[in-house]
Amino acid sequence: MNDNQKNEPTMKWSMRLGTLAGIAVYVHATFFILLLWIALSYWRSEQSLQAVIHGIGFILALFGCVVLHELGHALTARRFGIKTRDITLLSIGGVASLEKMPDDPRQEILVALAGPAVNIVIAGLIWLWLSLQQIIMPDQLSSMLQGNMLQQLLVVNLFLAGFNLLPAFPMDGGRVLRAILAMRMDRTAATRRAASVGQAFALWLGLVGMLYNPFLIFIALFVWIGAMAEAGTEEIRSLLHGNTLAHAVITNFESLSPHDSLARAIKLTLDGVQKDFPVIQGEEIIGVLTQEDLLRGLHEQGALATVREHMQTNIERADVNESLESVMKRLQSCGCRLLAVTENGQLVGIVNIDNIMELVRIEAALKEGNPAFRG
Ligand SMILES: [Zn+2]
Repeated sequence: MNDNQKNEPTMKWSMRLGTLAGIAVYVHATFFILLLWIALSYWRSEQSLQAVIHGIGFILALFGCVVLHELGHALTARRFGIKTRDITLLSIGGVASLEKMPDDPRQEILVALAGPAVNIVIAGLIWLWLSLQQIIMPDQLSSMLQGNMLQQLLVVNLFLAGFNLLPAFPMDGGRVLRAILAMRMDRTAATRRAASVGQAFALWLGLVGMLYNPFLIFIALFVWIGAMAEAGTEEIRSLLHGNTLAHAVITNFESLSPHDSLARAIKLTLDGVQKDFPVIQGEEIIGVLTQEDLLRGLHEQGALATVREHMQTNIERADVNESLESVMKRLQSCGCRLLAVTENGQLVGIVNIDNIMELVRIEAALKEGNPAFRG
């Protein structure tokens, strides 16, 4: 994996803000749309630049709290040896892209609770500061929202903690629910159940949004899609679990020699279904020519150029005994199209995501069984 690929944000259309505790922080393009929308709505209602600056300042402070919330998740996960790829700010909140969730439900609960806990601590600190300043505080949270910016931030942090604790997977509360369920049943079933609760909640939130606040519809969509995606990922994980790369390795494949012309790569591409080819010299794999490399090569130099000139030389290798879960993770994060599969250091085949997904579909079909043959 070269450094270039490592530094790519999890989400496209993101701009790097900086690094916090060794974790890259990105802001997504949609966040700027939110800022613009806030600025416009303040301008429309107050017609003053000061109000606009106040509004934007408040949103920035609020998203500062959101970053700290995500950092709470990330640093707790780090205590359990789990890295975080990056933190991304979206218009609807933040996302910490953890490498994975802890397998131990107790650890997952702590990681999930750490985010809302940060918001409660922030609210507590603001409250302490305001009391020390002897600012008279209203008894009601709603009247505090009419107060100064710090009072507003206090209320919003409490709201953030409360909202994230709703048991709607994949929100924090939903993760706690999944972990509690996972203590009683297997993880896939627990995820499926937590995801259904999450989707039911999303439906309800969408309805409320239609009646009161269109912004809630976005959050509902986010929860709905998130619940579906997480349930899918968990399903794949459980189907891959216990399998090694030996189950998915492609041993029957075409390869190229570095001296071949791109014309031969065109012929192999058109003759079969393989899109990416290992480049082999003697017994050794020395590169990979993906379809993208081929097309770029053809565009730049035509079909007579050699494979060597356009192949990628950074090859990821995997041992045939490596677990499929780990191979899948590497394929998703390395940005490479295929891995060279070795046994005792010798090349025995290749593997790509399509092939692993094929295996997943087959395992799923076998697991569900054929209803026609069920007694
Ligand atoms: Zn959270």
